Amino acid sequence: MPVATKPYDILAIGAHPDDVEVGSGGVLIRMVDMGYRVGIVYLTRGEMGTGGTARIRQKEAARAAEIMGADLLECFDVGDTKVFDTSANRSLVARVLRTYRPAVVLAPHWEGHTGKRQSHADHIATGRIVLNAANLAGLRKFDRRSEPHDVRAIFHYFLPVGAAATFVVDITDYFDRWLEALKAHRSQFLNPKKTRDYLWTLETMARSFGSVIGVKYAQGFACSSPLAVADLFAVVGAPRKMV
Ligand SMILES: [Zn+2]
Repeated sequence: MPVATKPYDILAIGAHPDDVEVGSGGVLIRMVDMGYRVGIVYLTRGEMGTGGTARIRQKEAARAAEIMGADLLECFDVGDTKVFDTSANRSLVARVLRTYRPAVVLAPHWEGHTGKRQSHADHIATGRIVLNAANLAGLRKFDRRSEPHDVRAIFHYFLPVGAAATFVVDITDYFDRWLEALKAHRSQFLNPKKTRDYLWTLETMARSFGSVIGVKYAQGFACSSPLAVADLFAVVGAPRKMV
């Protein structure tokens, strides 16, 4: 694991190579455009996906990271469909957090429904691992060879069906580039062997989040703990442009 010479502003963590793109890609592109340094970390190689292989998916993720402007992509091999909130996985992610020292971490939601077309168990486990790893990373005695690190906020994408977003980010101006990043995952989203139109589904989700704040496309996030706010206007944002 290389040592970051400069801390990351945002580290987006997912279970499978494409999770981050799907759940937060438009927002990451927006943040990179605003000058923030963004990195991506995956816990598995996605080898159990119907489309592609671990090698193909790694290449696709690298292309997507490039399109989004992330300057770090690291894929671990915890085992696709075998992601569990264990002590070993918490330590792995805590070391990642100490290495890249992000201010903000994005991770899948820590809860979800089980069953087909519901939340993937790996996603829920990853959300929990990240929450627990963030605590671990701050403990001095966790690993005396590295400096403790306090993540300032963890925001969760992949909201369970029916869960309300804590906040929603307008990605209308970044939608085309987001789509381009998604299309980099050819084995997942442009695979003739797959009958489901995933891109249509993802566009629909972005429209749905957009509709709740009066914009065309958006992505929504949830927090497991209250947001500490000093300036109310920091969370109010600009006046809305109605579509
Ligand atoms: Zn996934």
